[in-house]
Amino acid sequence: MRKIAVLTSGGDAPGMNAAIRAVVRTAIYHGMEVVGILRGYSGLMQEEMMPMTLGSVADIIQRGGTILYTARCEAFKQPEGQARGLEVLRKHGIEGLVVIGGDGSFRGAQALHKLGMPTIGIPGTIDNDIPCCDVTIGFDTAVNTAIEAIDKIRDTATSHDRTYVVEVMGRHAGDIAMYVGLAGGAESVLIPEAPYDLDEVIRKLERGVARGKKHSIIIVAEGAASGIEIGKYLAEHTGFEVRVTVLGHIQRGGAPTARDRVLASQLGAAAVELLRDNVSGKMVGTRNGVVQAVDFDTVFTTPRQPDMRLYDLANILSI
Ligand code: ATP
Repeated sequence: MRKIAVLTSGGDAPGMNAAIRAVVRTAIYHGMEVVGILRGYSGLMQEEMMPMTLGSVADIIQRGGTILYTARCEAFKQPEGQARGLEVLRKHGIEGLVVIGGDGSFRGAQALHKLGMPTIGIPGTIDNDIPCCDVTIGFDTAVNTAIEAIDKIRDTATSHDRTYVVEVMGRHAGDIAMYVGLAGGAESVLIPEAPYDLDEVIRKLERGVARGKKHSIIIVAEGAASGIEIGKYLAEHTGFEVRVTVLGHIQRGGAPTARDRVLASQLGAAAVELLRDNVSGKMVGTRNGVVQAVDFDTVFTTPRQPDMRLYDLANILSI
């Protein structure tokens, strides 16, 4: 393979730049040319691309976001859009494509693979909602960002004897909430994967007050409920002073943690090596810490299983 391309698609995640850097440098190391496609599949269809050199990925390993920009592109879900993408790749002599993004982005990569363009996907999304891999790029950074915020909130909660409801990201996956709840010592954690009982949350708050506890933190994954609604309910039913913080997009930004940089570097390099070995139609991720490639079809058909032991542990430790 002489020339490959790389793009980022879907929501951005810290560590995407480290993955781009690894793709570019590994490809150059193996004597290949690399093209960066801007704005995901939208940029592909519009031929927005630039040649990548060793220098074009210098000084980005520590930067959040993605230097290639990212986008969502409805047109690429249609066969015409995919045919246009293939035409552009062929026109520029590109023989393989690395797609960094979430499962939607992998569906686009799978479509190109089926049309005969070799593709490899790298899981990059803060939600950690992709099956068949230990963890996605960006998750560790998002959890650390949320923990930093929660530690600060705890300072003010303690000073004012308040109950804080903190809404964290996670539309379908409660991983951020579970990790943040456990690492931040939250009193209750609400996630989309488990039913919750607000009256039990209240009983727990009241038990805490009865033994002299004056402040509490409740973590809500956005996919489980609205933090604002939960805050209203708790205030109405307890008479406690309740404040709500929605962390929102601060969880998406910031410098990636060392763990995300290392993972992104491993997966970026592995993606290029797989293309070089004529492997296509697969996601590369780690399983039990070992880098492995899994068919996109397996990723799409495997139910995602959050580690509910962590959820149970968060509940036990906040008794
Ligand atoms: P995140 O988890 O951050 O949302 P994602 O990759 O799952 O990332 P999506 O918005 O689902 O984000 O998908 C990103 C892009 O991938 C879409 O805008 C579209 O261009 C492409 N895509 C999604 N689904 C398909 C599909 N079924 N066929 C072809 N392309 C798709």
